[in-house]
Amino acid sequence: MSARTLDGQTLAARMQEEIKPEVAAFTKKHGRPPALGILLVGNDPASEVYVRHKVKAGTEAGFRVDLERLAETASLDDVLTAVRRLNDSPVHDGILVQAPLPKAMGSGAQQRVFDTIAASKDVDGFGAESAGLLSQNRPVLVACTPAGIIEMLAREKIQIAGKHAVVIGRSDIVGKPMAMLLLHRDATVTICHSRTPNLAEVCRQADILVAAVGRPGLVRRDFVKPGAVVIDVAINRVTDRTVAASLYPEGHKRLATFDAKGSILVGDVHPEVEEVAGALTPVPGGVGPLTITMLMHNTLKAGRARMGE
Ligand code: NAP
Repeated sequence: MSARTLDGQTLAARMQEEIKPEVAAFTKKHGRPPALGILLVGNDPASEVYVRHKVKAGTEAGFRVDLERLAETASLDDVLTAVRRLNDSPVHDGILVQAPLPKAMGSGAQQRVFDTIAASKDVDGFGAESAGLLSQNRPVLVACTPAGIIEMLAREKIQIAGKHAVVIGRSDIVGKPMAMLLLHRDATVTICHSRTPNLAEVCRQADILVAAVGRPGLVRRDFVKPGAVVIDVAINRVTDRTVAASLYPEGHKRLATFDAKGSILVGDVHPEVEEVAGALTPVPGGVGPLTITMLMHNTLKAGRARMGE
């Protein structure tokens, strides 16, 4: 048996087209486009790439996207001041502060910044108020990656209610909001983490298994009940050939890509799982593309709410 591929790339492209007329209608009605303010602090190369994609996707869909850059040496106060300015801005509907913030700001800085974003503009859904509202099933704006996974499950007509969902990972940005969204859709939810004993055995009970860890190939065949839906959230860049060769046999085209480029992107799910799962998200091209699409959805939703729609 070979798992059905849950193609996030195609779905994201379709959703991007779907949102364009909605953005145009908003713009016509309110005399301005829905607007997203992005703060980028420092020069982290991965963050530069993510932000570039967000600006491009938003602009192409008709949003106004303003990117404000702060220097690597900016203080926490500088960032909080910029966030408060966007909170007060009449034109900005959504605010996103690209993580991670420079390490020099200290360990608690990031959450303080997220918590300062007005909940009505918190399009990443990382603030304490957004997380609290989600846990009470009164969501305003929900973290984009888990929200994208729910959207994919819905569009693929994968039933959640009554199913056993196992989420590996308990982070505030993926694991916990994912578990909450599944719970509120009447799944029975188990959350696993690095201290979970008998991980494979627990995962094998899942009808829907979500892996959000960051460890290439962690989820092996024996983690998966035959026919289960497996969602691979992780984006791991493998630069060690031994790791790449533990995932793909010699002669496999992805190993050839590794040899040509010196790295490949993989998820947490070992490729052998394809033989046992019923449906599976690929990496890349699964969950990843949906995250930016959901950011656009959240920005439009925030804009409509602010305009009283
Ligand atoms: P994170 O904050 O590092 O959390 C990882 C979680 O995995 C933690 O809860 C940790 O447990 C758990 N864990 C670590 N080793 C484990 C093990 N051996 N067995 C079971 N659980 C283990 O990571 P994150 O921010 O949630 O991101 C997870 C992955 O998703 C990363 O690969 C990231 O790149 C990717 N991601 C993708 C997108 C996207 O758009 N597709 C968006 C965000 C993140 P403890 O809590 O016990 O430490």
